[in-house]
Amino acid sequence: MRHCVLVTGGAGYIGSHTLVELLSNEIEVIVVDNFCNSSKEALRRVEEITKKSIKLYPYDCCDKELLEEVFRQNTFDAVIHFAGYKAVGESVRVPLKYFRNNLISTLNLLELSEKYQVKNFIFSSSATVYGVPKTVPVSEESEIFAMSPYGQSKCMIEQMLTSFSKAHSDWNIAILRYFNPIGAHPSGKIGEEPRGIPNNLLPYITQVAIGKLPYLTVFGKDYPTEDGTCIRDYIHVCDLACGHLLALRKLYTNCGRVVYNLGTGKGYSVLEVIHAFEEASGLKIPYQIGPRREGDVPQNFASVEKAKKELNFVAKYDLHQMCEDAWRWQQKNPKGYQEE
Ligand code: NAD
Ligand code: UDP
Repeated sequence: MRHCVLVTGGAGYIGSHTLVELLSNEIEVIVVDNFCNSSKEALRRVEEITKKSIKLYPYDCCDKELLEEVFRQNTFDAVIHFAGYKAVGESVRVPLKYFRNNLISTLNLLELSEKYQVKNFIFSSSATVYGVPKTVPVSEESEIFAMSPYGQSKCMIEQMLTSFSKAHSDWNIAILRYFNPIGAHPSGKIGEEPRGIPNNLLPYITQVAIGKLPYLTVFGKDYPTEDGTCIRDYIHVCDLACGHLLALRKLYTNCGRVVYNLGTGKGYSVLEVIHAFEEASGLKIPYQIGPRREGDVPQNFASVEKAKKELNFVAKYDLHQMCEDAWRWQQKNPKGYQEE
């Protein structure tokens, strides 16, 4: 059977890489994206990589009437919902913007999925729902608890999906908790394009490497870790994309509601990431030690056993490849997608 999937936020960083994975596996896609944090060029490049075409609706998922057009005009058997805002710091300053976009878009999609009987749903959650993990590696059974409005929006949506699934036993819902996606498609054609000064570590490093930013500030060196800097579980965005394909296949087996961590299971410190990037690029990254960033947890990395056992998901790329691919993307696209 040929599958077709509605992908919201498909022009974004993780969405675009997932489109490549889906299209390369003969799954048709329909994209809804209002380009509030992405560019149409990303979709053109996905088409270029896959030699397949994408049906696009440049709509806001918060506009239910417009969104309904997509459901009315098309037949698809699953929704992958990436659309949302994701900047933790901004969410602290303007929480309502985050609650509105992240919650309303999901509510609209769920109500329409219910009305049009689209019974498979994948949601982009985050390792941030683990708050300060009591133990690492952190498993899916750990308590969820958010420290920012962004994280709260993810926790609320997870709860919404859980209640919805209890009321609809014939629905299949995958909640995927991503750890730290980095890297880019090995072609260097698609990648992460932060607007303004990057908040995340890897985009910041690549912009220092290319000379856009003078140096990196390492946020704290007095954490209870081996070298004093924070530890995270960095996962190649193409591995993450593959996790979506596997989750989708799981949904098609009528699995009900499932929750998976998507990470590598390995933690790296900020200094280790800097050194891995230096090795991959052959460049020196100037950095200085600064104060801790508010809200950062000392360490967080995934227990990957459940995804391995139930999805057959194992991350293939190592940190060196993640850095190489991030660097290739940055070098080939110094101005992001605006180049052409
Ligand atoms: P991104 O900003 O690159 O992609 C999100 C896409 O959604 C963008 O193309 C944006 O234009 C679109 N969008 C946002 N609101 C919309 C709306 N109301 N209607 C239509 N389109 C809308 O982000 P990403 O890194 O690809 O993240 C995708 C999802 O994964 C998000 O839900 C994010 O919270 C989650 N996530 C990301 C990370 C990460 O580090 N990148 C980690 C954990 C979870
Ligand atoms: N980090 C840093 N300097 C930066 C950006 C990030 O030292 O300019 C650190 C941050 O403190 C955290 C790690 O890098 O320990 C990963 O941060 P990122 O924002 O990429 O992801 P998070 O895990 O916070 O979602």
